[in-house]
Amino acid sequence: MVNQAYYVLKPVIPRALQIYFRRRIANYKLKRHQDVWPIDPKSGNPPAGWRGWPDNKKFALILSHDVDTQKGHDRVLKLIEIEKRLGFKSAYNFVPERYDVARALIEKVKKEGFGVNVHGLKHDGKLFQSKKIFKQRALQINKYINDWEVEGFTAPSMICNLSWMHELNIKHSTCTFDTDPFEPEPNPSKTIFPFFVTNDKNGGSFVELPYTLAQDHLLFIILKEKDNSIWKKKLMWLAEKGGMALLNTHSDYMRFPGNGLESEEYPVKFYEKFLDHIKTEYEGQYWHALPSEMADFWQSTCGLGTEAQSEATIHNFFTSKSSMYAYDVKPRVKASMKKQELSKPGCYSDVRPTIKPDRERVPSIPILHKIPDTAKSPPP
Ligand SMILES: [Zn+2]
Repeated sequence: MVNQAYYVLKPVIPRALQIYFRRRIANYKLKRHQDVWPIDPKSGNPPAGWRGWPDNKKFALILSHDVDTQKGHDRVLKLIEIEKRLGFKSAYNFVPERYDVARALIEKVKKEGFGVNVHGLKHDGKLFQSKKIFKQRALQINKYINDWEVEGFTAPSMICNLSWMHELNIKHSTCTFDTDPFEPEPNPSKTIFPFFVTNDKNGGSFVELPYTLAQDHLLFIILKEKDNSIWKKKLMWLAEKGGMALLNTHSDYMRFPGNGLESEEYPVKFYEKFLDHIKTEYEGQYWHALPSEMADFWQSTCGLGTEAQSEATIHNFFTSKSSMYAYDVKPRVKASMKKQELSKPGCYSDVRPTIKPDRERVPSIPILHKIPDTAKSPPP
């Protein structure tokens, strides 16, 4: 209730007040969802027939950055320098029509061996508001995907509709997460592995890469964490489970040395120290990939298995988004799985659930998040 009211009123609330309300809501949710955040134990199972990561690495690591504003755009090269110095690479996801995206920067990022993707179109919270709007904007997004010669898409505020996204000419996307009750649409994919999103009409597919480490704005701005211990704790669990550690952060919110402290910023040291931690604690244990490389790998292994497996692979929200609830009804959702051929000969999707929600048994408790038909809130 509180959550819903907040997101309806958000556009007219001053930013400082928004942050205040988000902190109140987040603290409430923090207590309520301790069993599923930052770790949801049920999301740790690998897909059926799992054969492991390249080079027998224990887990996979992807670094990604949604660049929300001009400020973030102008800091990209600084962040790349830090990542390069520590031996990492990442993908930068730019918003085509919110600020000036320099073509030279795109080329530079690519030349450095880093990735580029499209992050929404305008970042105004309206992209998934209706199918009509989405279809119109998808044409524009595809134009940028083509112009920039990129293959991936990330959704602003993780508000998306995976089944509509077949309109986009993409190989991979990030618009879900294994567990994150703090998102405007808190609909977990409940897996720490990539998964295919198949198109029933033509059998085509793209690979969804859910983020599995909490976003920086939540940790350091909303929850006011003073260090990166939540990332470290989650990474230890992800490594144990052999899953995909995908961290999506924002150069917009990072304070670099020499810059004065602005509101909604955290020291870039938090990120830098986390990279250093990965390097020293897990050296040789992870396959470090760009999102596009992960999508290639996932497609090349043909979905890894042909049998339906566990609750961990129930990605219920995109099969029946209007009637699914998150975090509250997972044991009440039944899924019947079916094997589906993809467009590539010999390849099969891992699972493709058909969900039948049990509406009568949905409890009427305050924090029920009905997945809406329309995106309700502008991004943070
Ligand atoms: Zn964003």
